[in-house]
Amino acid sequence: MTWLLPRILAAAIATLVGGVIGLLIPGHSVPLFGALLGFVFALGVIAVRDTLHGYRLIEWLRGSQEGQAPRDAGLWGELGYRIERAIRLRERTVDTERERLTQFLSAIEASPNGVMLLDAGDQIDWCNSLAADHFGLDPQRDRRQRVTNLVRAPAFVAYLQAGLFTAAIQIRDPRGQRTLSVFVRSYGEGQRLVLSQDITERERSDGMRRDFVANVSHEIRTPLTVLAGFIETMANLPLTEVERKRVLVLMTQQADRMGTLVSDLLTLAQLEGSPRPTADRWVPLAPLLAQVAVDAKLLSGGRHTLAFPEVLEAQIAGASNELLSAITNLVTNAVRYTPAGGRIELSWRVQADGAGELSVADTGPGIAREHLPRLTERFYRVDGSRSRDTGGTGLGLSIVKHVVQRHGGELDIQSEVGQGSTFSLVFPAVRVRGAAPEAPALPMPAREERALP
Ligand code: ADP
Repeated sequence: MTWLLPRILAAAIATLVGGVIGLLIPGHSVPLFGALLGFVFALGVIAVRDTLHGYRLIEWLRGSQEGQAPRDAGLWGELGYRIERAIRLRERTVDTERERLTQFLSAIEASPNGVMLLDAGDQIDWCNSLAADHFGLDPQRDRRQRVTNLVRAPAFVAYLQAGLFTAAIQIRDPRGQRTLSVFVRSYGEGQRLVLSQDITERERSDGMRRDFVANVSHEIRTPLTVLAGFIETMANLPLTEVERKRVLVLMTQQADRMGTLVSDLLTLAQLEGSPRPTADRWVPLAPLLAQVAVDAKLLSGGRHTLAFPEVLEAQIAGASNELLSAITNLVTNAVRYTPAGGRIELSWRVQADGAGELSVADTGPGIAREHLPRLTERFYRVDGSRSRDTGGTGLGLSIVKHVVQRHGGELDIQSEVGQGSTFSLVFPAVRVRGAAPEAPALPMPAREERALP
């Protein structure tokens, strides 16, 4: 109220001065008239002054209010100051709210789900870029468009129109490449929140799991049916001692087959469920190969020439049981699929970049090109009956691939029909030590071989 006193004082002084002037005007010796004149004059001056100050303030308000409000003295100064302060306060609040909205939208943008906001008329209010990608929308151009004009999947349109949002629905994206799970929630006054998720990968792995269970059931049911048949035979038919022994041998074979299958399944489950082998446990290759050689020799029964390399120093960082399982699988495959008289040769070399390569080459029938990409799939067999006859489960190469990948490496398969096959485990340099890298420019020294009888 600091402006009030000066205004009263100014009016009083003007009235006083007006009164005195009124007194001095010749012919008007009525003091009241002079005082009235003075008061009117004072009001006039105040009105002109107020109009000027008010005009300046209005001009400032009409503009962008970026600079200071007019800093006049008195009432207009205070008015200008207070209006400016209120404006600045409002601007600060708007800025804070805008900042919060931006952060909020960035958080939704970072969401792993597509998020779309619809108004009460199902028009798009806002959507994040993932939702735009899922539904093939343009976040800017398609704003305020009715969503059902743009997302025309019949299941989605029916879902939105029915308004019963108790469960998610699944639709294909507009390009027909992905499966989306879409869930809608109502909020506010008729607005809707549409959440979308790309479940293509989940669908694929669910399908794989279903196939896997079906395959396992099939693989187990076959020997089980055979066993049940033999049990029935033994129970109902009077067998001679020779027949009984033969049936028992066949039953043992089927039981072994089931045992091998279960053990391979357990190996796979273990590989999938345990952490990757650390790179600080060094496994010498020589004892592993010695063990594999014993098994290979037994399985071959002298029908093949087996050649194993000398790997005195070589070491691989990882899990010895896994490495043994992978190498054994490759060598037993080579023995099982290579006809009698064939040759199976293991070799170890360190590549120029330090990577270690353990190869198992055979002179077997080879594998046609079209099968190669699928060989490591579970239960994939080129020749099902050959695989089963030789005790295969169809899981061997799948286990090998898992093992080598868990060691940071890869399985390389080279094969041609009639030319034999070479399966190579390639380990990265960080997991290999104990042998100098092979210099590619120099002629390779003849490898010393240890042929097993
Ligand atoms: P299986 O138990 O049937 O041998 P694997 O996963 O070990 O299963 O191998 C998958 C398929 O790859 C085999 O069924 C076989 O057809 C083919 N295969 C694997 N190793 C060889 C090999 N050394 N020579 C020819 N075919 C092979």
